[in-house]
Amino acid sequence: MALIVQKFGGTSVGNPERIRNVAARIQRACEDGHQIVVVVSAMSGVTDGLIKLAREVNPSPDVREMDVLLATGEQTTIALTAMALHALGQKAVSLTGAQAGIVTDGVHTKAKIANITPKRTRELLADGNVVIVAGFQGADAEGAITTLGRGGSDLTAIALAAALKADLCEIYTDVDGVYTADPRLVKAACKLNEISYDEMLELASLGAKVMQSRSVEFAKKFKVPFSVRSSMNDNPGTLVKEETRKMEDVMIRGISVDKNQAKINIAKAPDRPGIAARLFKPLADAHINVDMIVQNASTEGFTDVSFTVAKDDLTRARKVIEPIAKELGAGTVADFEKIAKLSVVGIGMRSHSGVAADLFETLAANKVNIQMISTSEIKISVIIDAADADRAMNAVHAKFRLGCP
Ligand code: ADP
Ligand code: ASP
Ligand code: MG
Repeated sequence: MALIVQKFGGTSVGNPERIRNVAARIQRACEDGHQIVVVVSAMSGVTDGLIKLAREVNPSPDVREMDVLLATGEQTTIALTAMALHALGQKAVSLTGAQAGIVTDGVHTKAKIANITPKRTRELLADGNVVIVAGFQGADAEGAITTLGRGGSDLTAIALAAALKADLCEIYTDVDGVYTADPRLVKAACKLNEISYDEMLELASLGAKVMQSRSVEFAKKFKVPFSVRSSMNDNPGTLVKEETRKMEDVMIRGISVDKNQAKINIAKAPDRPGIAARLFKPLADAHINVDMIVQNASTEGFTDVSFTVAKDDLTRARKVIEPIAKELGAGTVADFEKIAKLSVVGIGMRSHSGVAADLFETLAANKVNIQMISTSEIKISVIIDAADADRAMNAVHAKFRLGCP
């Protein structure tokens, strides 16, 4: 008998028929003699709908109330999933995040899990129940409802698997597993049988929404292997786990694209020590994450500085930067929203050279202009025009022969 955590995402519980299918899958696992803890997301579109609703009554809703609202999406699905299991004659009890003992810090809408006390879950399991936990939510030390950031049900599942020392954690979604690229953007994308935590983490934080990046970080830290697989079929999916020597043989594991970034350019800032600090310290103080930075010094004592931020932070970033640019006597501050970040990822890059050259050559051959570049040990990212993104992705995918053999 194994203890298995199964997570079902929004599409997988998107309508009553799908919820009944999910219940049937859970029941099969019970019949195989396993104990099952289920984590569910809100039905697809529900969280977006709630955010829209909130903004219709208040353009900048209070974050505490936002969490009270958002948590209702997952509460609907836990109850419906329990009811569907009851209809099959299977004992099941639903728990909110707080009832499942998930305690977080008090940072509303992006809370971090502080600890999990799975006592109630264990009791209910011992009593023969399937325990269905609401994903994406917890409560802070004072009992206020919190949420874990978009896509946070993945984190609930991984963290519960760690806390319960589960034998297996399965992330059920609407694709067969993790692919070499988003299969909706690259038709030739190939499903991977396995991928290392580090590669999955890079792909997730560089735009592949198949797993929330914080959940992968958590899985790596607590050594929770997990599989990503389809809720619509029985294909084996992708195993995400610690890297093995053999994994390094593959130079590029996958590519991703992030269209949620914006670029800010400050023209003709005076080229003297301390300028970068003067620009970026106030952004950090305003909790605005700066991703890529490029600075070009000219011979005339001026420098151009460009950097990227999340699109959601663009207005705030401009507000911070504009007065400083003025004070420094810099030229215009311009922003560009129609950009995309294309990244290639693979732990094999540590031991293979020439990846950057191949990437740049492919983009040049396809007349895609590179605006910014950044590299780390296992990834190379470029900022390109958003209109070129899908074409560039397909070309790069083909160049690195990432399609199925
Ligand atoms: P869920 O609702 O189950 O959490 P998500 O919509 O959050 O599902 O994530 C699944 C989606 O991630 C897929 O439909 C797919 O379009 C997208 N995706 C992006 N990159 C990848 C990738 N490399 N492999 C698989 N899916 C990907
Ligand atoms: N329902 C939340 C969201 O849409 C959490 C999740 O689906 O994982 O972001
Ligand atoms: Mg998701």
